[in-house]
Amino acid sequence: MHVLIIGAGITGTATAHALLDEGHTVTLIDPDGSAARERGTPSAGNAGWIATADILPLAHPKIVLEAPRMLLDPLGPLAIRAGYLLPLLPWLARFLWASRPSAVAASTRALIDLQTRALPAWLARARALGLEKHIHRKGGLYMLDTPSSVEKARIEAKAQREAGINVDVISLDEARQMEPAIRDVFAGALFHADSAHISDPLWLTTALFEAAIARGANSLPATVRALSADGKPAVLTDGGVIEADAIVLAAGIWSRTLAAGLGDKTPLDTERGYNVSFKGVTGLTSRPIAFKDHGFIINALDSGIRIGGAVEFGGLKAKPNHARTRALYEKCSRFISGLPDFGSGDVWMGFRPSLPDSLPVIGPSRASPRIIYAFGHGHLGMTQSHVTAGLVADMIAGRKTSFDATPFSAQRF
Ligand SMILES: Cc1cc2nc3c(=O)[nH]c(=O)nc-3n(C[C@H](O)[C@H](O)[C@H](O)COP(=O)(O)OP(=O)(O)OC[C@H]3O[C@@H](n4cnc5c(N)ncnc54)[C@H](O)[C@@H]3O)c2cc1C
Repeated sequence: MHVLIIGAGITGTATAHALLDEGHTVTLIDPDGSAARERGTPSAGNAGWIATADILPLAHPKIVLEAPRMLLDPLGPLAIRAGYLLPLLPWLARFLWASRPSAVAASTRALIDLQTRALPAWLARARALGLEKHIHRKGGLYMLDTPSSVEKARIEAKAQREAGINVDVISLDEARQMEPAIRDVFAGALFHADSAHISDPLWLTTALFEAAIARGANSLPATVRALSADGKPAVLTDGGVIEADAIVLAAGIWSRTLAAGLGDKTPLDTERGYNVSFKGVTGLTSRPIAFKDHGFIINALDSGIRIGGAVEFGGLKAKPNHARTRALYEKCSRFISGLPDFGSGDVWMGFRPSLPDSLPVIGPSRASPRIIYAFGHGHLGMTQSHVTAGLVADMIAGRKTSFDATPFSAQRF
């Protein structure tokens, strides 16, 4: 079959490989060739953690109590930009609905399915393409501020163990033996031995894209304006109409309007995330370290350390507020010794494509079984990319998927 993939971020490029494996002809359509950091494409600037232990959705029963406290801090881990509350209301209503216990349990089960397959899928793909040097298997730390966060983390660790995830609750001393730059200000940590991190998201997305081209995929630098399911599946670009046997929509946050044009109104919105990267600064830390009570991480990319996180709702047009990035950096300097000056870093903001139940959309459109969606991976798109790709390949082939994909259907909304 000839398959058009709209979007050459990490989801689109991973999907290209899964389809090439099956002998399909693949064309990747993206205005930038592949993911561009300058446009806030998250595949090009994320934190680089294959965060396989994150199996809990963001919505949970206590969020209604916690969110107002977080929102009160203008530079805290969660913010809504002035003027964006109204457009966000439908998303927020869905988020609250997703925080009831039965919905949290269902999202957790679906996330476990994706997350526990993520690292094996990454390793298999990296091995097949000779890209192993991009994946570092040093585990990841979640630092915990207080004895009560340690107790809460023990409960989470129990759920993770039940899902087959390797996790240890460790002391601050043990964490500092692994990462001497951690300051003496925590009560303990969770250590996930089986999570991993990558060289650099832009490097790896580009390497996957180039490997797809080397395997025979085509690249069409263009913007898709609309999709059509009348007759053969087709896309409309500024250069004209292109027909294909199947289409995969993997355009991140920009998928919302294209899917809506096919009759699938998804509550996709963007959780804007911020980071600062220090190019060439390596050796200070050696693995991802999350500050669980503060919603951000520091990661040791091969390109240099990166401090990033935060969630800001503000749509696609508002300018970045890098006071937020500075606030992350300042907090981080209370937790990690020896950081370079903020001014020597490179600040960035990117658009996480997020759905309120923390699950992506992976599945056929309402208009045609030959137009498959693969978007909305929120905080975990880099982690889940090759698992998503495998499901899409199953769907394109018309096979039963390798595990239950119904929780990811676009028609769940
Ligand atoms: C600060 C931050 C930190 C993060 N950290 C992590 C992490 O550590 N681990 C993790 O797993 N995830 C992380 N994420 C999330 C992850 O980056 C995203 O979920 C993932 O990159 C989404 O990838 P994607 O390919 O689906 O979409 P995108 O990366 O958004 O790519 C979509 C592509 O589609 C193209 N496109 C858009 N519109 C059109 C159109 N009309 N026609 C053609 N092409 C189009 C774009 O140019 C783009 O290249 C983080 C995100 C942020 C913002």
